[in-house]
Amino acid sequence: FGDKFKKPEGAWECDTCLVENKAVDTKCVACMSAKPGASAASSSASSAPVFGLGDAFKKPEGAWDCDVCLVQNKAVDVQCVACQAAKPGVSVEP
Ligand SMILES: [Zn+2]
Ligand SMILES: [Zn+2]
Repeated sequence: FGDKFKKPEGAWECDTCLVENKAVDTKCVACMSAKPGASAASSSASSAPVFGLGDAFKKPEGAWDCDVCLVQNKAVDVQCVACQAAKPGVSVEP
């Protein structure tokens, strides 16, 4: 009789509503209470920033940062789109 109700590996019981949740659940499926004993570290493992995505923030070719307001501008811009400061290194001919 007892074996029939044996918990699956890692299963846990909600402290709030006593619903049994699976090991993979980090919060109660019924009342959304946090898994007891689940540390912030373990929950952040799934939502931690993935540093491999750095390429997504790579500057486009020729892009430049404004010295004044730090806005990133495109290579074709000769002035900052935000503060109109001249592109560094561009010689402004009168
Ligand atoms: Zn619950
Ligand atoms: Zn600027």
